[in-house]
Amino acid sequence: MTTITPADVCYQQCISPACGTTYSVDQALVACRDCGGLLDVRYDWDRLPVPGSLAEIEKKWARRDLPHCASGVWRFHDLLPFAPVDQCVTVGEGQTLLHASDAVGRYVGMKPGRLLLEYEGMNPSGSFKDNGMAAAFTHARTVGATRAACASTGNTSASLALYCSVTGLMKAVIFVGSGKIAFGKLSQALDYGALTVQIAGDFDDAMARVQEVSAQLGIYLVNSVNPFRLEGQKTIMFRVLEALRWEVPDWIVVPGGNLGNSSAFGKAFFELRELGLIDRMPRLAVVNASGADTLYELYERRGLRWNRGKPDAAAIDAYSREMDETGRRASTIASAIEINRPVNLTKCLRALEWMGGAVRHASDQDILDAKAQVGAGGMGCEPASAASVAGAKQLVSEGVISPDERVVCILTGHQLKDPKATMAYHSTDQQHFNEVLGSRGVRRAEFANRAVAVANDRDEIIKAIRLYS
Ligand SMILES: *Cc1c(COP(=O)(O)O)cnc(C)c1O
Ligand SMILES: [Zn+2]
Repeated sequence: MTTITPADVCYQQCISPACGTTYSVDQALVACRDCGGLLDVRYDWDRLPVPGSLAEIEKKWARRDLPHCASGVWRFHDLLPFAPVDQCVTVGEGQTLLHASDAVGRYVGMKPGRLLLEYEGMNPSGSFKDNGMAAAFTHARTVGATRAACASTGNTSASLALYCSVTGLMKAVIFVGSGKIAFGKLSQALDYGALTVQIAGDFDDAMARVQEVSAQLGIYLVNSVNPFRLEGQKTIMFRVLEALRWEVPDWIVVPGGNLGNSSAFGKAFFELRELGLIDRMPRLAVVNASGADTLYELYERRGLRWNRGKPDAAAIDAYSREMDETGRRASTIASAIEINRPVNLTKCLRALEWMGGAVRHASDQDILDAKAQVGAGGMGCEPASAASVAGAKQLVSEGVISPDERVVCILTGHQLKDPKATMAYHSTDQQHFNEVLGSRGVRRAEFANRAVAVANDRDEIIKAIRLYS
């Protein structure tokens, strides 16, 4: 018997059907060399030992003494077999939880038991990015990379820095925009020992520079233009299905920044259906922040569509030029999605096509209100994550989502990532509230839980507790 190696059954391919150029699995590319399009990781499923049913994957739990069976990413290795199992890097990612929250569900307008929160803040670096990093880092290792780079609004850099520090396999080089990164995230990158380059510009600038610099210096790039990142992020959907006993939910709602997650989710469900492992697709809702809503503008207002692989490039260019001419820069409290030029735009259009998609945008006010509800009735999250809940609420009020459908909102990042936004919202100091949030159009904190100031006196403390409880 001959053993099948990944190079025999896995390759990369340009997503443009008109181009379709293929590349071998061991090339480190972030775009098609022929047309500049995005790349997919593709598999010859016929020659691979695909599980007969999704439930078979549960058998891996019995072997959770093995690191790649315990990993919430590599447990699904059969569905992303681009590297040999013994090469797959894990730091314990993907031990996440899908939990039903009736309190948040009520806020969104759902019937009891119908709103589920997929809490990706439980990952080792505190965001869903670890799912993708496990995969991209594994690919980087198999191609012999010694340095890996990313541009980041914070969480990608925290994740890359963590994989580098724990494994010692590579040196991290991270590019961040100045003043644009939440402290929790920046402190992680510094603490993990990454080389941190602060660019005088925003995320879109940092993204452009890291692509130029890593190409010139031959540094492995782990942003979500890297197709292997998205293979890891498919597993978020596999775990959602697993938690639902392999039943397909009605809606997946996810915040949209660079649109890697939404793209990965589309690919996950498309492949599961191709393999006959599910019989229908859930619908996908992508939620932008109003201050960074390029996808919303193009998809909902200007009617841009995947269009069988030929999205209207002129319309995309025209909007890009408009942003340049008017000096429009992304601006939102949800710094993880403060992105005006999403690199995975076309791939996301494809996912929206496959999954009957909808796109919405949420104001910073709505995002912070939703975040306070998630904190009070769930696991808590950072601002960007709450865009999913704010978006779901809009879609329910519009009647697009019905209250008895099963809806999964992805909570992309941990509550502790951005304590500044949380503290300002719950602040008793109106001036502080105005300084941090007023400039963003946030006028009120309807769900604020304010600390009670009491004198250092037993009777006063008892009086206060009686009064407020
Ligand atoms: C990266 C990130 C996002 C945006 O995800 P994309 O895949 O870039 O659309 C949303 N929320 C958090 C917390 C993130 O770290
Ligand atoms: Zn191409």
